[in-house]
Parts: sequence; C-alpha cells; structure tokens
Amino acid sequence: MRIVLIGPPGAGKGTQARVLADLLSVPAISSGDLFRAEIGRGSELGELVRQHTQAGELVPDELTTALVTQRLREPDAADGFLLDGFPRTVRQAELLQEALGEDGTVLDAVLAFDMPDDEIVQRLTGRRLCPACGTTVHTVFSPPRVPDRCDGCEGALVRRADDTEETVLRRLAVYAEQTVPLLRWYTDRDLLVHVDAMGTVAEVSDRMRSALAAVAL
Ligand code: AMP
Repeated sequence: MRIVLIGPPGAGKGTQARVLADLLSVPAISSGDLFRAEIGRGSELGELVRQHTQAGELVPDELTTALVTQRLREPDAADGFLLDGFPRTVRQAELLQEALGEDGTVLDAVLAFDMPDDEIVQRLTGRRLCPACGTTVHTVFSPPRVPDRCDGCEGALVRRADDTEETVLRRLAVYAEQTVPLLRWYTDRDLLVHVDAMGTVAEVSDRMRSALAAVAL
C-alpha cells in the first residue's frame, strides 16, 4: 500500500501514521522528521531548512521532494510506504507522481485529516516532546507527573521551536494557502478521503481504517 496523509499541523498525522504503518507493515516516512534529522546533523542543508521551519514556512519544493524521494528508494519502502506531511503543495505532488511513475508505481489513497483551527492552536502550543524517547505530552490535556519531565524515561521535555503561538498561526495560514489546493488536486484523481481527526487516538484510527477499507484495502 502506498498512502499519503495530509492535514493541518497538529492534527495527529504523525501518531496515526505510526499506527497505520504498523498495521500495514510499511515504513512511515515524515518529511518533518527527515528535516529535523538534517538540522540535527548541522549540515549546510540543515541550516537552510532550519530557517524555513522556524519561521513556519515551507521548505522549497525541489529540495523537499529530493530528500523524500531519496528516502523512498531505500529497500524498506519498495513494497509500500506511508507519507506523513509530504506532499504539501501541488508542485510536490506533481514531482512525486513523476518520481513514482519512473518506477511504475502509483498511490493507493490520500487521507485528509480535518480539524478546526482553534483546536490546533490549543494542541500545538501546549505540546511538549521528549527528545530521548519520542514521547509527546500536553501541558493541559495529558500533563506529565513531574512538570517538564518525561513519565517514561525522565528526560527533559522540550517545546518544538515552531510550536509557539505566532509560528503555529503562520503554519496554519501556509496550510490554507499552499496545501488546501492539493486536496482538490487529489480529489480530481479519485484518491482523496476525508477523516475527522477530532477525538481519541483510537477513535481516529478506527475512522482511518474504515476510510481505507472503503477505498483501497
Ligand atoms: P511537520 O513536522 O510535518 O509539522 O513539519 C515541520 C516543518 O518542516 C514544516 O512547518 C515545514 O517548515 C517543514 N516541512 C515538512 N514537510 C514539508 C513539506 N512537504 N514541504 C515543505 N516543508 C515541509
């Protein structure tokens, strides 16, 4: 299965991508994670990426697509993959289609996560991550037992640099301007299915599975 998850920042794509990837035994590939790894390496490319992500802006299409398609050529993605956060523009979708077409592969479905903006702002501004073990908490909805400490490994929790209110609002505006047109592009290709992203992780997973069963499984 080759699946794309599209949705505004903070709609739970990353969490659901891991759930679905386990279920389908395919790798979950997140463009945001690929970028954060590049920033962590301290490369010249990483520095360029950091400037865009910290401002809440998208990284240029050609650069993003090159990084993701390189990852898609790794052996674990040969029989399927789940893309989380890529493509995010019509141009990226066109470039992805060209790259997949060269290998004779196509997408099976595109799931679009729907969530109101006020919920997103609340979720992202309170989100804290444990860089050591990957746990995510929320300062109000799922607070850690000890403030700023991970319940799992006791590592220090951090706030993503782009989870400040100002940057979250910018990311939402960028989503509306640059990613929403992509929904129509995939609708026109009979690939798009909407998923209500409100509710618990289990509720959204169930909806996602039903949506996929209807179109692709
Ligand atoms: P995410 O973890 O998906 O929220 O991505 C974090 C940031 O990485 C975004 O705000 C963008 O700056 C950048 N980014 C991630 N995916 C893409 C993409 N497909 N195209 C351009 N920029 C991206």
